[in-house]
Amino acid sequence: MKLEEFQAKALYGRFGIPVSAGVVVTAAHEAPAAAEKVGLPVVVKAQVQAGGRGKAGGVRLARTLEEVREHAAAILGMTIRDCRVERLLIDPAVAIAGEYYAGIALDRRTGRPVLMASASGGVDIEKVAAETPEKILFHAIDPERGLRPFEARQVAFGLFRDKAKALAATDILLGLWRCYDGTDASLAEINPLVELEDGSLLAIDAKIVLDDSALFRHPELEAMRIATPEEEKELAAKEHGLSYVRLDGGIGCMVNGAGLAMATMDVIRHLGGAPANFLDIGGSSSPDKVVHAMRLLVSDENVRAIFINVFGGITRCDDVARGLVTALERIDTRLPFVVRLTGTNEEEGRRILADAGISATSDMTEGARRAIALARGGGVGA
Ligand code: GDP
Ligand code: MN
Repeated sequence: MKLEEFQAKALYGRFGIPVSAGVVVTAAHEAPAAAEKVGLPVVVKAQVQAGGRGKAGGVRLARTLEEVREHAAAILGMTIRDCRVERLLIDPAVAIAGEYYAGIALDRRTGRPVLMASASGGVDIEKVAAETPEKILFHAIDPERGLRPFEARQVAFGLFRDKAKALAATDILLGLWRCYDGTDASLAEINPLVELEDGSLLAIDAKIVLDDSALFRHPELEAMRIATPEEEKELAAKEHGLSYVRLDGGIGCMVNGAGLAMATMDVIRHLGGAPANFLDIGGSSSPDKVVHAMRLLVSDENVRAIFINVFGGITRCDDVARGLVTALERIDTRLPFVVRLTGTNEEEGRRILADAGISATSDMTEGARRAIALARGGGVGA
């Protein structure tokens, strides 16, 4: 689970990291009042679970209340890397003397958290990592002992010659570790960590990714979840016993079993198509599940054809057929679809479909091929 900047900053603050004190707003007309509270000049910042906001035009400096309102209106509703901007952070603008980077991430190769720090912070740290990795200091952290003060000092003195600054940076790195460790994060990052003109340090951006598998230990963090529309859908699907992941192709897939779902996606790709999703309706599919699954597929505007691929085992073909017929009665859609049905109670399933005027193939490759043709505009048919 990712946090937005304002949430990550609130957490950093609790762990003793100096952060700017901004105000969150959700409407442009609230922005000037927030800016007055914060004090001009301010930076109007898009709050989304994605980086690169600055380059996308989602971070803008405002010197007057009029500019605040203009920027707020321009940024709200923008889409940054597929995330719609619904909140802004009105943050005090600061005069920057230097931009640094500090982060802790889980290094999956060594199975350890690694502390990274660089004097080349700012918006292009990925470029620095790729082209001039020597400009980044790396320090592997022993997860049992944690980051120890002398280790943090060593890294901090690698960034700053000046003793006062290095000691201030040490405290920030130790705070970052306590936050990373204490929240079961897989990433905690400050980019940039800025040096102000008076020499003090301040985190003006914050990014935290929490480990989903550890969220049960942190109900207060779980409560901070801001689900994207995609995640809302996936969570709702889960409640209906469906496992759903949206992809970007045009062929909606409804499949029973994770293995068959993967195979279906592979076959579609192999034949030159693109699946719109992974959707496993699971074993023992009740007609109800099929109706929910169908609703999910037709609500995705990318879907141009649907491929229902059922291999009856525990799942009974007649159940799926009944669900499908019910779904088509209840859901108003003109999307073309293809059914592939084979296995347990296949005959009964086919009879139910035939009564509703739907034919089904028993060959998966054939079904996928037809779905691809339909998605390309090859006419409507079952
Ligand atoms: P990101 O692009 O999503 O990483 O958003 P950041 O919060 O890191 O902002 C991008 C860039 O905007 C920073 O690297 C800074 O250079 C600049 N910026 C952000 N806040 C301020 C500020 O208060 N004052 C100044 N001068 N620049 C800022
Ligand atoms: Mn940043």
